[in-house]
Amino acid sequence: MFTIQHYVQPETLEEAYQLLIAKRNNVILGGCAFLKMSKKKIGTAIDLSKLQLDFIHEKENTIEIGAMTTFRSLETNPCLNEYFNGIIPKSIKNIIGVQFRNIVTIGGTVYSRYGFSDLITALLALEVDVELYHGGVVPLEVFLKNGGTKDILVKVIVHKTNQSASYQMMRNSISDYPILAVAVSKKEDDWKIVIGARPRRAEIAVEASKYLTQNNIDETNIKQAANIAMEELAFGTNMRGQKNYREAIIAPLLKRGIVEVLR
Ligand SMILES: Cc1cc2nc3c(=O)[nH]c(=O)nc-3n(C[C@H](O)[C@H](O)[C@H](O)COP(=O)(O)OP(=O)(O)OC[C@H]3O[C@@H](n4cnc5c(N)ncnc54)[C@H](O)[C@@H]3O)c2cc1C
Repeated sequence: MFTIQHYVQPETLEEAYQLLIAKRNNVILGGCAFLKMSKKKIGTAIDLSKLQLDFIHEKENTIEIGAMTTFRSLETNPCLNEYFNGIIPKSIKNIIGVQFRNIVTIGGTVYSRYGFSDLITALLALEVDVELYHGGVVPLEVFLKNGGTKDILVKVIVHKTNQSASYQMMRNSISDYPILAVAVSKKEDDWKIVIGARPRRAEIAVEASKYLTQNNIDETNIKQAANIAMEELAFGTNMRGQKNYREAIIAPLLKRGIVEVLR
């Protein structure tokens, strides 16, 4: 369990940021589900609850999601259920249980860049930016690749494209971490394949996506796209699954995703 020396609820993002960078062991609190499992000795715990970051705003071209928005709010939001075949709510519905999803936040999740993240895999299949207080607006793909200078994730910006999308995963049991996560999207003729929980962080399989875009969608080409993804991305072994197993289930998950997108 973590320990906290000082607890603050800043009134502004600037105040929160100054506290965050003031000392190495000062941290932002999201829903604390992951933090609680650590043995961190936190100097100042910075609670963002007073900053009105718990929102989902549908704008003309985007859907903006505040950092303190819980998974349960994402899951039950009508707008997120309507867009992209509801890929965002679908990607998180198997995480532990409703009580848990009422606590964990999109900010804590995306900022932490977890390799096993169901949500990050799904978001990467869409056109998504993250807004950082200090670093400004950056594409999610770039944010995931960058190293971690201390910052505050303020919101996630989902662009309202006409993408159809699907999220597929394999788990040992419903409440366990995913063994492999595959998200697929199609915008006009362009396909995008994202693979997460390899067990590394989710990445776009660029060459496999190109292959799918340039060829007919049939059984053979789906298998070939899975093979290309296997070559271009690194897969590994952890306690949930072996490298070989992960590689073997790319094609079936990809096929399920493609079928759902084309339905
Ligand atoms: C037991 C357990 C099982 C899980 N299973 C799954 C699973 O199967 N699939 C899955 O995808 N996820 C899973 N998760 C992860 C979970 O879904 C959340 O992603 C995770 O708990 C982080 O969210 P949080 O709000 O709890 O963040 P916290 O624990 O509060 O914070 C996590 C980190 O992010 C930082 N942080 C928080 N908010 C911000 C912000 N706005 N800006 C900058 N930094 C910030 C914190 O300082 C901390 O370092 C699991 C977590 C737990 C504890």
